[in-house]
Amino acid sequence: MRAIQMVDLKAQYHKIKAEVDAAVLGVLESCAFINGPHVGRFAQALAQYQDAKHVIPCANGTDALQIAMMALGLEPGDEVITPSFTYIATTEVIALLRLTPVFVDVDPKTFCIDPAAIEKAITPKTKAIVPVHLYGQAADMEAIMDIARRHNLFVIEDNAQAIGCDIYYADGSVRKTGSIGTVGTTSFFPSKNLGGYGDGGAMVTNDDAVADTLRMVANHGQKVRYYHDIVGCNSRLDTIQAAILEIKLAHLNDYIDARRRVADYYDQAFAGLPGVTTPFRSEKSRHVFHQYTLILEGVDRNGLHDYLATLNIPSMIYYPVPAHRQQMFAAFGSSEQHLPVTDWLTERVISLPIHTEMDDEQLQHITSSVRNYLTK
Ligand SMILES: *Cc1c(COP(=O)(O)O)cnc(C)c1O
Repeated sequence: MRAIQMVDLKAQYHKIKAEVDAAVLGVLESCAFINGPHVGRFAQALAQYQDAKHVIPCANGTDALQIAMMALGLEPGDEVITPSFTYIATTEVIALLRLTPVFVDVDPKTFCIDPAAIEKAITPKTKAIVPVHLYGQAADMEAIMDIARRHNLFVIEDNAQAIGCDIYYADGSVRKTGSIGTVGTTSFFPSKNLGGYGDGGAMVTNDDAVADTLRMVANHGQKVRYYHDIVGCNSRLDTIQAAILEIKLAHLNDYIDARRRVADYYDQAFAGLPGVTTPFRSEKSRHVFHQYTLILEGVDRNGLHDYLATLNIPSMIYYPVPAHRQQMFAAFGSSEQHLPVTDWLTERVISLPIHTEMDDEQLQHITSSVRNYLTK
C-alpha cells in the first residue's frame, strides 16, 4: 500500500508534471519574476471561476485578510466579529491592526460562525464580520449578509479552506463562497484545495472602489508609481506560483470531486457507528472537504489519534486550542468568554486524511482501523 499522508502533493504533482515543469521553466526563461503575465492571467481566470468582478492576488492568505481590513478603513478600536474556532490567521490580523476581535461561537453542525451569536455580539463599535468557511463547508451567508445589511457592516469571507464551494440560494441562483461578502480572501498554501508550490493568496470583490483600494494597499499604497497616497504594504503573488496555479485551477473541480468521493467513502463506512458524527451535509451548499472532520462523543479522541499513528495513519486535531484561549489574546480577556460549542468541539474533533490521490486500499485500511478502535 502507498504510504498514507494527510495530503499527497507529490502524487498530484506527477499527474500534471509535464505541464507544470514547462510553465515554471518558461517563467525562468522569461525572467518576468515579479508581476509577470501569468499573474494577471491567473487573476482573470480565478475571477471567472468565482463569477466575481475582481481578483487581486497577494502573497498569502494571511496578507489577504490584513489587506482587506486595511482597505476597508477599519481603525484601532473598531470591533470585528469572528469565530474563535478557526485557524489563527483569521483572528491574528484583527489584533495586528489594533482592531478588537470579538469572538463568537459556531454552529455545532457546520463548524462555522453562528448567525444568532453574531447578532448578539453587535455593538455601536462593530464594523465587520469575518465568517470562515471552515473545512470546506460554507457559513450561512444568507443570514450573515442580512445581518450585515441591517447593521451596515462589512463582511470579509475567509475562504482559505473552501475555494470552489457553491451556495444554493432559495431563488435557484448559485454563488461561490468568497464572492458574496464585501471581500473574500483565500490562500494558495500548498495543502489548500487550490494550492501552489509555495505561498500565495488572493482577494475577491465585486466592488470597483474596494478593488482599487485593495490593489493600492497591496502595492505600497500607490496607484501611480512612486506616489504613495495611503499606507500600504508589499504583498505580491509570485509569477512562478501564478503559472502553477493557472494550470491547477483548470483541475480544481476535478480535485473537489476527488475529495468528495473520499468523503462519501468515509460517510458510508462510519454510518451508524456509535459515538461518531460524520460531517454535516447541508442542502444549502456543496461541501468541498478541505478536511474530513469527525465529532467523537464518549470516545477517547486522542487515543484514536495515537492508535492510528501506530498503523501509519496520520490524523490531525484542527485546532487543539481555539483562538479565544490563545495567550496571544490574553489582553482581550477572551479566555473568560463562554463559547460552549467551540470548547465542546475542540475536545471532540479529529480530521482524517483527505486529498485528491487516495485509493480504495488506503481508504479501506483507514476505515477498518477507525472501526476497529471504536468497536473494540
Ligand atoms: C490557511 C488559512 C489562512 C492563511 O493562509 P496563509 O496562506 O497560510 O497565510 C487563513 N485562514 C484560514 C481559515 C486558513 O485555513
